[in-house]
Amino acid sequence: MRFKTDYKMDRKQFLQLSSMGLASLPLSSPFSATNKPIVISTWDSGMEVNAAAWKILSNKGKSVDAVEAGATHIEDTINCCVGLGGYPDRDGTVTLDACIMDERGNCGAVAGMEQIKHPIAVARKVMEKTPHVLLVGDGAQQFAIENGFVKESKTLSAEAQDAYQKWLETSEYKPQINIELKQGNGPSAPSFFTDGSPNHDTMGLVAMDCNGDLSGAVTTSGMAFKMHGRVGDSPIIGAGLFVDNEVGAATSSGVGEEVIRICGTHLVVELMRQGYTPEMACKKAIERIVHRDPAKAKNIQVGFLAMNKKGEYGAYAIQKGFVFSVKSNTENQIHAAKHLI
Ligand code: ASP
Repeated sequence: MRFKTDYKMDRKQFLQLSSMGLASLPLSSPFSATNKPIVISTWDSGMEVNAAAWKILSNKGKSVDAVEAGATHIEDTINCCVGLGGYPDRDGTVTLDACIMDERGNCGAVAGMEQIKHPIAVARKVMEKTPHVLLVGDGAQQFAIENGFVKESKTLSAEAQDAYQKWLETSEYKPQINIELKQGNGPSAPSFFTDGSPNHDTMGLVAMDCNGDLSGAVTTSGMAFKMHGRVGDSPIIGAGLFVDNEVGAATSSGVGEEVIRICGTHLVVELMRQGYTPEMACKKAIERIVHRDPAKAKNIQVGFLAMNKKGEYGAYAIQKGFVFSVKSNTENQIHAAKHLI
């Protein structure tokens, strides 16, 4: 990729810094060339998300406003995995998760929230108007309504209704404790094995604005046909999203339980702090998941997407099929992430 730095250079620099006892210093310096503004998003649907965010970034707007605009845009579309049109849980209820984090480490999130169209906007209100980080379920909905959000109907989108009916025919109705994806059979499987399937997945995006400030946002209806009450990585700060304005930011998509187990995006950002490029940091985090349970990893997908303070980006996934979208002054395209298996 165009802005990727040379990995060996970074490791060499890192070792030199280590020997000087300076390894924990951020590698970015005021003198490094920076690719800004820039926004990166998970999946190919990230192209339209990036376009919405770019309207703000290209007008010298703040990255936190840009990522909220991007997430809001996808929540307005009919999409299997985001917003009220998304696939429901096992009980037929759509529950939404979202989070947002800005350049000062402020963050807000909602999880398991029903009947509110824009969870990302509620997450931002949690960030700005409460002393808390995460509101869940009825409490999140109550907070949303108190703040002027409208309670929408519970009706599933036509696509979600079809998918749910099919799932009920072929799937046993019982809670799964260990959620594993089997191609064509498991929750969200088509999204993870993108063999031409139109399905998309959790939307995570990270942006850097003209000032060089980083923010990120994630929005999702979570894993399709999950147990009612199940929350994945997406609204968990440090799992589905993490931003450190001195170092970089990362987001994730895929089986949330595996991302939570390794505090995935926090790990990716900390690896970038140690000198790894975004792509190598994502790869290391993927290796950690695979190493923990190689047999399980064969049947699941996780992808990480990251950007550092210079606007360099990279991604890595367990399986083939994870793609991401990039928009900057010099590019506007979809990239395929490298994969471990
Ligand atoms: N990460 C999301 C979750 O576990 C699922 C996804 O990316 O589709 O809820």
